[in-house]
Amino acid sequence: MKVLQEKIRQENFYEEDEFLQRLLKQYMDTELFSYADKQLKNFGQRAAGPIDERARHTDRDGQPRLEQYNKFGEEVSRVWVNEGYRQTVKETYETGIVGYVHKDIPEIARKGSYTYSFAQGYVLSQAEPGFYCPVTLTMATAYLLDHYADEDLKEAFLPHVLATGDTELYEGATFLTERQGGSDVGANVVEAVQDGDHYHLYGEKYFASNAGMCGVAMVLARMEDAPEGSRGLSLFLVPWEGNNLRIRRLKDKLGVRAVPSAEVEFTGAKAYLVGEADRGFYYMMEALNLSRICNAVASLGIMRRSYTEALHYAEGRNAFGRRLVDFPMIQQSLRELRVKLEKETTAVFDMIQLYEKVTESEATKEEEVLNRLLIAIMKKESAEQSIDFAHEAIEMHGGNGYIEDFVTPRLLRDAQVLTVWEGTANILALELLRLVNKYEAHTLFVGMLREKAEGSMKTQIDAMEERLLNFSNLQQVEQELEAKSLMKDMAWLYEDVVYEQL
Ligand SMILES: Cc1cc2nc3c(=O)[nH]c(=O)nc-3n(C[C@H](O)[C@H](O)[C@H](O)COP(=O)(O)OP(=O)(O)OC[C@H]3O[C@@H](n4cnc5c(N)ncnc54)[C@H](O)[C@@H]3O)c2cc1C
Repeated sequence: MKVLQEKIRQENFYEEDEFLQRLLKQYMDTELFSYADKQLKNFGQRAAGPIDERARHTDRDGQPRLEQYNKFGEEVSRVWVNEGYRQTVKETYETGIVGYVHKDIPEIARKGSYTYSFAQGYVLSQAEPGFYCPVTLTMATAYLLDHYADEDLKEAFLPHVLATGDTELYEGATFLTERQGGSDVGANVVEAVQDGDHYHLYGEKYFASNAGMCGVAMVLARMEDAPEGSRGLSLFLVPWEGNNLRIRRLKDKLGVRAVPSAEVEFTGAKAYLVGEADRGFYYMMEALNLSRICNAVASLGIMRRSYTEALHYAEGRNAFGRRLVDFPMIQQSLRELRVKLEKETTAVFDMIQLYEKVTESEATKEEEVLNRLLIAIMKKESAEQSIDFAHEAIEMHGGNGYIEDFVTPRLLRDAQVLTVWEGTANILALELLRLVNKYEAHTLFVGMLREKAEGSMKTQIDAMEERLLNFSNLQQVEQELEAKSLMKDMAWLYEDVVYEQL
């Protein structure tokens, strides 16, 4: 007995996504769009096909494993990953997802853009959000080296971090978190001891994603005699291969199993200072803002996959003699998912346009503040939505949705980390407080909404203005209690405004 029609399988995550194509057309110039459109058609097909197949294998049967010793019993701290995963790594970096943000695309003799890279990330995350983590870390490493490393360091490492098949690839990593705290980075104690023109690191990082796979890691450490707190942290580049470091263990995780996340011990690892010694924390916070956008993009990817899986299942499954998709409540659920997905995708790509301006140093101080604010509210909102969407997709599948034969359980397990890494909701809420109290970000936010809305949605924007003004006058404790619900409403209003203008 056939209880379910053959599932309509997505064959191309890009080609079948007309909404994304429309957004990219709007945000890219003709030359870049024409190149990106062609490449994304190819990548979208691979993501929906082999990359998705391999992601399933990695999650179920092929998770990274720690090889602590070689055959002679010597400690090597290597990480084994399966062949399919290696293929996904190779294919993805060769598309220029990291490289072409910083260097020319040979075919069109010009750089790509973050918009193009994030579109690739969105497509990739529908199949393999776990691997989008190493891509994110490599993007952050490239950003830090490109902006702050001296010429010698850049020359030695940047071409590898930006590799697109032209030279050996060094994936990146960013190690901040220590056992005593991830949110409170100022509590870091890993120590850097100077030795001529370089340093040696001692201590332990407790969550170190891409350990064993990265060619270089960007690490926060404290020099001898540096002050306590975040101001005493410096940024170091640490080459992985042949260095004095060891992996204590790999974390046994709920999801994103493709990426090896480790506890790493530095036992005198050779390290090179990046930028000014007392600016390490600030550099890393800049990179963190980039990673937060990647986080939002990964969330969108999970939302889109959840929606399409739910839609296709509802089209193929019958109950009470009718297709699920013909029932009013099912239609309502699908409609709500689609509208929220479109609004959020529009808002995130709108935010990315401001980010492009900021990274090109073309933005005003006010725009930089606004950029941080939008990143905080959209990272929080999208991460929470990705969990909701994965839940809805499970619900739409009934019992099947809970079973690992379907992609839905993996979507939920993978989504769950997105609210934690790159800053939890509470930490993002504290960013809101900082931006409002120090830089009057609330005024900038309302100004931006008015400008984008061009006279429409006046009542909602006026109400938000009043609420934000009240918020700015509260005591710190009251602000903390109000911040998260306020951020949610700010995100929804921002989404409504940009969606209406589309
Ligand atoms: C799979 C995975 C991979 C990771 N990979 C990396 C990596 O590669 N590099 C890296 O540096 N880190 C990595 N992390 C660490 C991650 O960034 C931290 O887990 C995160 O920042 C939270 O820090 P914590 O775990 O120490 O939690 P804590 O800081 O102890 O926070 C616990 C809870 O307390 C809340 N809290 C803390 N301070 C406040 C406050 N002032 N007010 C209100 N609430 C507060 C937090 O919001 C959270 O809910 C990874 C984590 C995971 C799960």
